[in-house]
Formats: sequence, C-alpha cells, structure tokens
Amino acid sequence: MILPPATLGMLGGGQLGRFFVMAAQELGYRVVVLDPDRHSPAGRVANEHLAAAYDDPDALDRMAESCAAVTTEFENVPADTLAYLSKFVPVRPGAEAVAICQNRSAEKGFLKAHGFPHAPYADIRGEGDLATAGDDLFPGILKVARFGYDGKGQARVGDRAAAQAAFHHFKHEPCVLEKQLRLDSEVSIVLGRGEDGQVACFPMAENSHCHGILDVSVVPAPLPESLHAEARAVAAGIAARMDYVGTLAVEFFVVGGHLVVNEMAPRPHNSGHYTIDACAVSQYEQQVRALCGLPLGAGRADRAAVMVNLLGDLWYLRDDHHAHEPDWSRLLAHPDLRLHLYGKHHPRPGRKMGHFTMVGTDLERVADAALAARHAIGITEPVAHPPMRRG
Ligand code: ATP
Ligand code: MG
Repeated sequence: MILPPATLGMLGGGQLGRFFVMAAQELGYRVVVLDPDRHSPAGRVANEHLAAAYDDPDALDRMAESCAAVTTEFENVPADTLAYLSKFVPVRPGAEAVAICQNRSAEKGFLKAHGFPHAPYADIRGEGDLATAGDDLFPGILKVARFGYDGKGQARVGDRAAAQAAFHHFKHEPCVLEKQLRLDSEVSIVLGRGEDGQVACFPMAENSHCHGILDVSVVPAPLPESLHAEARAVAAGIAARMDYVGTLAVEFFVVGGHLVVNEMAPRPHNSGHYTIDACAVSQYEQQVRALCGLPLGAGRADRAAVMVNLLGDLWYLRDDHHAHEPDWSRLLAHPDLRLHLYGKHHPRPGRKMGHFTMVGTDLERVADAALAARHAIGITEPVAHPPMRRG
C-alpha cells in the first residue's frame, strides 16, 4: 500500500485531474500534475505543477523520482510516456489499457475479440476499406480513430459517397465506420478496480447530450434493474479483460431495450461527477484508492442525483461579445444543489467550466429541481432526452 503523505503523479490537468488532486489531498497525499497549460485547473491546486509537454524528458524524470505512483485523467497521453514512467513507478491504469481506449479501432477490436456487445463497424484505413464496407453500415457514422471527443472528428454519412467525402475531409486519417443505431437512450457506468481484481461499480447514469457534449446525467438511470445488472456485468468484464487498475468508465447505448457498448474511458468520467455529492466515496477517491492499493470504497449512492454541465456559453448570454460571470446566486440559493466550478481562465462557448449536482431522495423531484435550476442559470435549450419522461 502507498500511504499518505506519499506523492502521487497525475498526467493531465483538466477538471478530472483537479478533482483527483483534491480527493488525494483530502486523504493526506501530495500530488504532482504534468500539463503544458500553465493555467490548468488541476495544476492550480496541485502541490507541484510541471508545465511541460507530456513527453518532456526532464519533467518525466522529475515525476519518476518524486512520485510513488502515477495515473492519468485523459486517454491521449502518449503511450511512450506511460511506458517510460512504468520503468520507475507503478502506472495505473497501464499503458496497454490506455492504448485500447485511446484508439477507436483498437477499442472496437477489443470488444469484438472478447464478445462484448458493440455496434457493427468496419476499420477504415484507406479508400479500399470504404469501397468494401458492408451496405448494412449505412446510414453510418465515420469517426476518426484517435483524438475525437465531445462528438468532434465524427461525420454522419448517409451513403458510401458521403463516407468517402468525409474520409477525405478527415485527411485520410484512420477511421472506423459505425452503423448508426436507433438509440432509446445513452447510459454509462463508472467503476473502480483494484490490483487484486476487486470491483466496485457506481450506479448507472442516463446521459443526455446537447450539440455532442454531455448536458445532463440522471442517477440512478430510470431503467429496469435487469439493465443495471447487465451494465455492471459488462463493465466489470471489460475491466477484468483489460487487467484494469483504476477508475474506468463505460458508455453504452440502449438499443431496443438492449445494451451496446459505445466506448470506454480509462479515467473518471463527466457522467460520474455526481459521485462527489451522492456516494460514499467519489470516482476520484476511488482512483486514489486503486492507485495506492487501498481497499476500494463501496460504489453505493446514498441519494438520487441529477448533474448538469455548465459550459462557457453561459458567460455570453448578453449579446455584447464580452464575457459576464453568470449570476451564481441563482444556483447557490438552492439548499440541495452542489456547485462545482473548475477555475478555468477563459470561458469559451462549448468549454466545460463547471457543473452542479442536485441531490435528494426522490429522483422525480430532484430532476424537476435540477431542470428548474438549469433554466434559472440561463440554459434555455430543451434537454434532448428529458429525465423521468416515463412519469
Ligand atoms: P464524448 O467525448 O462525449 O464521449 P465522442 O466524441 O467520444 O463523445 P461518441 O461517444 O463516439 O463520441 O459519440 C458521440 C455521440 O454521438 C454519442 O453520445 C451518440 O449520441 C452519438 N452516436 C455515436 N455513435 C453512434 C451510433 N453508432 N449510432 C447512433 N448514435 C451514435
Ligand atoms: Mg462518447
């Protein structure tokens, strides 16, 4: 076991890293963050911030000598960085698991090889693969294999010609072509897995997106218990197959009442923010625990929760092109609302600046209160997939 006050290393300085830093510090650890952005949200609260590139040799050596173990908060850390650090200190999750999750082809190949449900797809490495892709994949979605997020690097393609045009637009980057499924809803499971194979799943969230970005998460997902159980089993199976150690998120589509794995994230997840306010331990404390070889906390939620993302758009509601701080008193007035702001320097439309979580005992009431607060702070777009629509 790695015990406090040991120093832990975090690769990446976004809000997921920031919550990890805060959870680790609460337990008495010190944290070094590596992120090239001098204003990174995690770097600002870390004990030490190395503002350098992810492959900077001096920064990696500093991490290797000062940290008892290293983890990550985003999947696009170069594989060489993880491999290099793991020569000196435990790196969890390991380079192989991260490599699977950072490349859609590898991810789909993994799901297929191990029999986990996934959308029909084809690897597209050149024009030839597009020419021979099955007709059943149209209408489809062409997704670049690497570095896509929040729906970026994706194109909906009605037919083969559209797919060819999109592939051209993506500069012939390796892609996957996925059949477009008719989604009942989208859900996710976050879990912690220890080195000893112990797994603790957090409750499944139902997620609603707006312009490709997560908007609202509702917990527990208002779906039959059989689907919850199936999601836990699939997510735990994926983690075991990857020999995963740390916090893992698995996103699913619900299609015709069945689960289809969409993708995995080798880190805490936006849809798991609610665990901070509604669970015995958060997904971030679980990451600390798995990293340090401590027993995992229970994944149990004590309360119902609805999380709402706060994007940079909220700073630009007045039509004068200047950023104005939203009136937080509208949220803070609510006794069951927990506000989390990430301390980001520049609000930009589409940028995740913070979130809030409404908690309570009755999910229907919590959802109503969360949507009212969402509206009160100025988010007027309707929720794509309204919670509790089943009454
Ligand atoms: P994020 O960063 O939010 O996880 P992403 O860029 O990694 O997003 P995906 O999760 O693959 O991208 O897809 C984004 C959204 O597009 C999904 O949440 C879903 O709404 C829709 N989508 C993706 N693939 C399919 C599919 N095969 N059929 C139908 N809808 C899909
Ligand atoms: Mg996704």
